[in-house]
Amino acid sequence: MNYAHRIDGKKRVHLKEYDPEERRGLTKEEAQEKTAELARELNELDDLLFAAGQQSMLIILQGRDTSGKDGAIRHLLNIVNVQSCRVVPFKVPTPIELAHDFLWRIHAETPPRGAMHIFNRSHYEDVLVVRVHNLVPEAVWRKRYDHINAFERLLVDSGTILLKFYLHISKEEQEKRLLEREKETEKAWKLSVGDWKERELWDRYTEAYEEALTRCSSPEIPWHIAPANNKWFRDLAITEQVVEALRPYRKPWMEHLSKIGETAKRELMEYRAQRTGA
Ligand code: AMP
Ligand code: MG
Repeated sequence: MNYAHRIDGKKRVHLKEYDPEERRGLTKEEAQEKTAELARELNELDDLLFAAGQQSMLIILQGRDTSGKDGAIRHLLNIVNVQSCRVVPFKVPTPIELAHDFLWRIHAETPPRGAMHIFNRSHYEDVLVVRVHNLVPEAVWRKRYDHINAFERLLVDSGTILLKFYLHISKEEQEKRLLEREKETEKAWKLSVGDWKERELWDRYTEAYEEALTRCSSPEIPWHIAPANNKWFRDLAITEQVVEALRPYRKPWMEHLSKIGETAKRELMEYRAQRTGA
């Protein structure tokens, strides 16, 4: 069984059924050891993704404030090839972004073949914060679940390996983390009164997340709920899923690379033969 929970959309998600504290009997050290082993494999697979240039990978990170999106990104960036990896944060849309459909700015940032992009927030904000704060009429955001599903289907059909993570923390853990930001100078830059205001809307966000996780999951394009109260468990759960998503491609990518190598060798031999002949 996997450390993250795979959601297939067949039944409604109730977040209270998932324990944010989950550790599967692992100590921090044991989990970190497993993560390190998976990280070695991820590093190799990511090199192959880049070299073969046949697929792309998109990792979407969603979660409430302090759920650890930044931490998860830092963890992944320590493993993957910086040449082919890019992080894209999505903030409050600019006027020009708002003048387009909600997927316009998202589509522009999807990864080309060979690249891995990590989204820190995403088009899901358009059915989360937008829904909770009534930023557009319900009739508008309601249609977006179908738009999102069609969009993600297009990405996957076009060779994108798509992984979506909801970083699941408890309300108590969020309070602890917000208070830490006040105490620790290195974390103070993240302090925001907005985070405390959003926290008051906890239940409305729960409702919005549950609907997005349910309606935008399918066996082919699932969401993953990563228990995130323990940062080391979160990193293990995410790393495992990324490795498992890439692993099936190892063989075809190796085969593709060896064909490229054969062609290049043949061309080189022909070139040398011509030079000796000349
Ligand atoms: P942070 O991730 O802490 O830098 O904050 C980014 C902020 O941008 C969050 O408060 C998000 O809710 C907000 N945001 C991101 N996308 C959208 C969107 N489509 N509409 C409104 N707010 C958004
Ligand atoms: Mg924030």
